[in-house]
Amino acid sequence: MTPSNHNMVGLVELADAEELLDRLGRSSFGDVQQAFFQRLQDWVRPRDEWKRLDDNRFCVILRGMATRGELELATSKLERMFAEPHYQFGRPVSLTIRAGFTESSDPDNDLELALRRASMALRQARDAARIYDVYAPQKTVQAAEEQKLLERLETAVDLGELQLYYQPKIHASYQSLVGAEALMRWHTRDKKVIPPGQFIAVAECHDVIRPMTFWAVKSAIARLALWPEELTIAVNIAPQLLLDGQLASVVNDALDIYGVSPARLVLEVTERIMVDNQTTMMEQLADMRVRGVKVSLDDFGTGFSSLSYFRDLPVDEIKIDGSFVMKMLECGKDHAIVKAVIDLAHNFSMKVVAEGVESTEIAERLKDLGCDILQGYVFDRPLEVGTFEASYGIVKPNPRNQQPVRNHPIN
Ligand code: C2E
Ligand code: MG
Ligand code: MG
Repeated sequence: MTPSNHNMVGLVELADAEELLDRLGRSSFGDVQQAFFQRLQDWVRPRDEWKRLDDNRFCVILRGMATRGELELATSKLERMFAEPHYQFGRPVSLTIRAGFTESSDPDNDLELALRRASMALRQARDAARIYDVYAPQKTVQAAEEQKLLERLETAVDLGELQLYYQPKIHASYQSLVGAEALMRWHTRDKKVIPPGQFIAVAECHDVIRPMTFWAVKSAIARLALWPEELTIAVNIAPQLLLDGQLASVVNDALDIYGVSPARLVLEVTERIMVDNQTTMMEQLADMRVRGVKVSLDDFGTGFSSLSYFRDLPVDEIKIDGSFVMKMLECGKDHAIVKAVIDLAHNFSMKVVAEGVESTEIAERLKDLGCDILQGYVFDRPLEVGTFEASYGIVKPNPRNQQPVRNHPIN
């Protein structure tokens, strides 16, 4: 039996009512409204309660509804009841409806709150051009928080609150510094440092990722101009940046302005480039490689791409995802994956970077397996630019603020 304390409170409106009134005139529109309310009364069951709220809105308490499935049955019946047009003097007038629902355990005492929620769901349905929606508190809070974060992020770009931290990439055999990966950090006005895990995913769903990436690319290239010729910098690039040529022009302009050799810039992309709009993205990458820029496939092994894609990939380097590297000494399967990726990449003349190298034992094993470059906490975490440069003796140290050149834990 359906529990009686599960109810749905709904608001149903006649959409486009004003337009209908303008088109049909007041008297004919009155007939349309009558038809609208009549059909709703035919829709509800005897145990439900309903009320006409105003000229175009109807409120209903659907009693004893325990599951979403039951609501779906009710709404599909509602759709069927309005599928046929209303005939006015032989002419069809379609009745478009919109509804919002919310759960309520005690609608007799909480009707006002329930109606407010149903009204929010109705608005969501209207915005998404759906017939109905259901009030979902988490969804609304999440959407509102995401919007707030996005607005703060847009301001952060303008105010220069973003910074690039640098994590060293180390030659597996010689233990020398080959370059760094630039990783974004957000320094807020209240002196907090927010890691990318808390804002990149949201940024990547919106346009703000474009100015953020363009800034990161320019900033990294400007840094390269100050660093010795043999060092590279890798910048992370979200897939949608490869849907048009704007990134390529930003890259080209910055390389020209700063007089940096293209081979010193590495663009890190993920396997997501192989899912949608593959051809466009591949072409963009191929164009940049013609210019001499290097492309690296980040987080390799975590996506769903197949080996046939691998064959045609326009990349110079594969980064094995840290999740395999971290456990490779305890987990035979992870070890096998790491080994197989190194061999496969070398057969395609690609370099291999292992990320997430957390111990000297793992670093040693990766070297033995032929991995080319290592990156991970065993060497350094991502460092603020000044600290990175001082630690690795990259820019001439300021005599007033001299710091020793960093030694690696494995020598
Ligand atoms: P990613 O590109 O795969 O970067 C590597 C992440 O692994 C970094 O996290 C780094 O700090 C972390 N890491 C490095 N070594 C170790 C290790 O030994 N152990 C562990 N547990 N972690 C390690 P971070 O800086 O928090 O960045 C997270 C992700 O955010 C990056 O993953 C990248 O996907 C994204 N991201 C960072 N900066 C940018 C950016 O400028 N643009 C875009 N689109 N994404 C970015
Ligand atoms: Mg990366
Ligand atoms: Mg990665």
